Amino acid sequence: CGIVGYVGDKQAAPILLDGLSKLEYRGYDSAGLAVRNGSEKFEVVKAKGRLKVLANKTDDGIALHGTCGIGHTRWATHGEPSETNAHPHTSAAGETDEDADVVGVHNGIIENFQEVKEKLTRRGYTFYSQTDTEVLIKLVDYYYKKYNMGPIDALAKTIVRVRGSYALAVMFKDYPGEVYVARKDSPMIIGVNENESYIASDVPAILKHTRNVYYIGNREMAKLSGGEVTFFNLDGDAIEKELVEIKWDA
Ligand code: GLU
Repeated sequence: CGIVGYVGDKQAAPILLDGLSKLEYRGYDSAGLAVRNGSEKFEVVKAKGRLKVLANKTDDGIALHGTCGIGHTRWATHGEPSETNAHPHTSAAGETDEDADVVGVHNGIIENFQEVKEKLTRRGYTFYSQTDTEVLIKLVDYYYKKYNMGPIDALAKTIVRVRGSYALAVMFKDYPGEVYVARKDSPMIIGVNENESYIASDVPAILKHTRNVYYIGNREMAKLSGGEVTFFNLDGDAIEKELVEIKWDA
């Protein structure tokens, strides 16, 4: 189980695949990527099995275009290892992920997903996977639309509603060039350079790009936009974080 993300001026997919390969030691059964070129549609690719299968499917990432993206290696907790259950999961009403308003990856476990799933089903949502993650992403979508909220407020509401652990990275159709994250009890760090920012489950995944890292606390959120990272508490207020320089080598 690993998470990576990139927002900057380089092509995201090869960077994401390389980052995921550094997280392979954590174990996984499937993997996936979502990448976006400016305000174009999302490109979502998933594969069961080794990272190599995903790399082959995307021509080592070259087939995917865009400077903003998220990636995931999955260690199944809810639902068998399969391409359908692999992340990213989306808010799409049909099976076409590209048209989604919200696309995300998640490490961890949502304990009350069954109850939330039933509620969302009554409100018209259809679920295509067996995962707790698809419920999490659709809950973000629900708050985002129902209250006409911005991404951070929708994530804050989601955090209050779910029980469990998560390192969550999300892209919103209406917010090109931005990735949003939330975290509780699952590892995730954020690295920055002048014009780019990185998400990873662990420092070694990004050390070749940057040594400047932020640690995000439990029930905190962040917005990544190029080299700019803003952190938020549950009230949606911006909070200050200390930038830490990593002095050791992987
Ligand atoms: N609970 C999620 C799932 O089964 C995430 C698993 C993980 O941390 O990779 O899809």
